Amino acid sequence: MKFSATTCKQLTKVLIDWYHHHKRDLPWRHTRNPYHILVSEVMLQQTRVTTVIPYYEKFLSHFPTLESLASAPEQSLLRIWSGLGYYRRVRYLQAAARQIISKWNSQFPKEYHDLQTLPGFGEYTAAAVSSIAFGHKHAAVDGNVLRVLTRLVNEKGNVKKTAIRRKLNFAAQSLVSSVGPRSAGTWNQALMELGATVCTPQNPSCNLCPLKQWCSSVKAGTQCIRPVKVRPHKKEKMVTSVIVCTKNEQFLMRQRPEKSKIMPGFWELPEVEGQLLCETDLHEWGMKQLRRLSSFSHGITSRIYDVNVYIAASKGKPLRSFHWVPQGKLSTIPLTTITRKTLAILESISPEGR
Ligand code: SF4
Repeated sequence: MKFSATTCKQLTKVLIDWYHHHKRDLPWRHTRNPYHILVSEVMLQQTRVTTVIPYYEKFLSHFPTLESLASAPEQSLLRIWSGLGYYRRVRYLQAAARQIISKWNSQFPKEYHDLQTLPGFGEYTAAAVSSIAFGHKHAAVDGNVLRVLTRLVNEKGNVKKTAIRRKLNFAAQSLVSSVGPRSAGTWNQALMELGATVCTPQNPSCNLCPLKQWCSSVKAGTQCIRPVKVRPHKKEKMVTSVIVCTKNEQFLMRQRPEKSKIMPGFWELPEVEGQLLCETDLHEWGMKQLRRLSSFSHGITSRIYDVNVYIAASKGKPLRSFHWVPQGKLSTIPLTTITRKTLAILESISPEGR
């Protein structure tokens, strides 16, 4: 799968022109600062642009430089990131900042292969940073780009397979190699923008597409069935119960262990797996008078949780792992998503209705 040199030249020029006229005005498109670009790229992994914008601005106002990020206490990092999910990302960001300072004398590495040695940097992130910040010709193939390429060449194979990915990466690399000096970042972003706004997963707007004349799947009428992906496994259903126990405007909470695989270091309301059927178990936690308040659904990568929310009264001394956290302090500590959703439900119910 290879585009001819002439096709590469024409196609890239047309798309870059289209991008200059149609791109969305996003805050990270006003900078070539590699650190700022890195923050945006990491945040955009698995997260929508509209969600990322306020987080990006808040994050950089708290940590405007590599040094400020490297020296930030983990709790404040997690608090600023709280709500964006996939918390491993921010830990990798900090680890990368520390490595750039210690190993690269605070100079952001420019080369693709050097970037790949940083914590959390895969092929995509290294290509995105090296092309956008430094103009190096590396194809950054994210989900949007993969979809556009698959449709352009009408690839029939399963894009989850390595051999098919390799073919598509090869096509992507031949395209980026044909753009002018320092245009590699613009080209990569133009492809991403086309995938995000025109060549969308459902109902692509082919009539508005600047690449229509080169698109094999639109000629074959197969654009809506490309790319071919293996169906994801059904999400596993789980039930969990969260207990809200308050005393003098304080919440009974615990901090997740540092070794926990999920959200280590985050604070949470007491939670038990499954449905709570009786309150006997709660006595040793220092709670009594259990009452069901509400429920909600919470989805993570491979699971959907049915979360039951209970209210309980305080009874004697709680377990040593629990702490009374004043209500006013909740906005200053990182909270798990289930805890944040539970507190939002609690806030929406009047004290008489609880
Ligand atoms: S013509 Fe349609 S399917 Fe082909 S790249 Fe453009 S939007 Fe995607």
